Amino acid sequence: MKVVKFGGSSMADAGQYRKIREILMADPERKVVVVSAAGKRFAADHKITDLLYLCYAHIQYGVDCSGVFDMIASRYLDIRDDLGLDLPIEGELYDLKQRLNDKKVTQEELVSRGEYFSAKLMAAYLGFQFVDAADWVKFRFDGTVDKEASYEALRHHVIMGYGAVIPGFYGVMPDGAIHTFSRGGSDITGALAAAALDAAVYENWTDVSGILMADPRIVDDPQAIPEVTYDELRELSYSGAQVLHEDSIFPVREKNIPVNIRNTNAPEAPGTMIQESFTEDSDPDRFITGITGKKDFSIISMTKRGMSNQVGVLQKVLNVLVRHGISVDYVPNGIDNVSVVLPTAAIEKDLYTIMAEIQKEAEPDSLDVHHQIAVVAAVGRKMAFRPGISGKIFAALGESGINIRMINQGPDELNIIFGVDNHDFKEAIRVLYNSFVTK
Ligand code: ASP
Repeated sequence: MKVVKFGGSSMADAGQYRKIREILMADPERKVVVVSAAGKRFAADHKITDLLYLCYAHIQYGVDCSGVFDMIASRYLDIRDDLGLDLPIEGELYDLKQRLNDKKVTQEELVSRGEYFSAKLMAAYLGFQFVDAADWVKFRFDGTVDKEASYEALRHHVIMGYGAVIPGFYGVMPDGAIHTFSRGGSDITGALAAAALDAAVYENWTDVSGILMADPRIVDDPQAIPEVTYDELRELSYSGAQVLHEDSIFPVREKNIPVNIRNTNAPEAPGTMIQESFTEDSDPDRFITGITGKKDFSIISMTKRGMSNQVGVLQKVLNVLVRHGISVDYVPNGIDNVSVVLPTAAIEKDLYTIMAEIQKEAEPDSLDVHHQIAVVAAVGRKMAFRPGISGKIFAALGESGINIRMINQGPDELNIIFGVDNHDFKEAIRVLYNSFVTK
């Protein structure tokens, strides 16, 4: 059995619902469907969830939100009518509007209704069972999910083999109040459902044919990554585009359930497979899984003669940062020098105080800070124990005249990370991509 989750753009209009039905019919194992609220139909369109938040804000400020609410209602009524369904949702919509105007609905309940109506319509369209997330996604008061209780409840509610549609994004607090995940949280609902039902695969359907090897705004038409491990994904998503909600990894990883990212608009593409490890190497010549990065880092660097023989110099530097609540990303070092690399935004406000405290407490011979640094990461599980990869990376960058400001390789050899000037960021990614991928 497969759990399949469809994101907002896959749920945007009746045409998308039809595509989903085709996708489900193509594989009878696709039995449990988790849906997002209707997303954008075109670039300038609005996501229903955004409109719901907007509606709530109106009411908070005492402004009438009928216009916005009616946009939301008509998106769903249009989908229903286009699909020729006779599901009376007007009553529920009217009731919701009434309660909203009377300030009787919480923000979380209101914004969860996007998923709720999506699931109602999809269940009716497919002839599947509607299983409300409020009946099984159980939060504790601290906002974490009680997985065991939730899994148990879902197993109790789903009629196996029949087909079920579940709204994503929300669940219920111990006191019965609706509680939502953070934005993009339908991914988590899908992962929880997959884990609860011991699915063979968790398919996450979106509008790209998998996780791309590089940011398409930087590299023209980058290839999709066919296979990626959870560890690699974590490295990639730390600094790159978010494909999956971060918290959606844990439930499926725990149960060793592979995740397959697929494209609703190109169902023939195999997408990206995410799992713990891969035994067979489908593409032995592909050493780099993906290239990612972020701009706007700062490097605080210091030298202190004889530092290598002194105990605790680095600790003093880190103590200062800890006191300011700042976490460090990388710590490249030499014999008598050490640097800390961290996002500029984190130190900007207290920079001079921090520098003064480091000077006072660690007493370096020199202390500098450099801004406008971009960090680029080449991620790939197959780089480990393979000589020559970093040579190739740095040769390619050198040939393109890109100066490297910092180098860091994790001991697990899962990635090679380097810093360049912000203005070389995009070029560095393109150079790497072109030297590893297209050749
Ligand atoms: N609709 C929610 C959001 O826009 C949840 C989701 O789609 O995953 O964040």
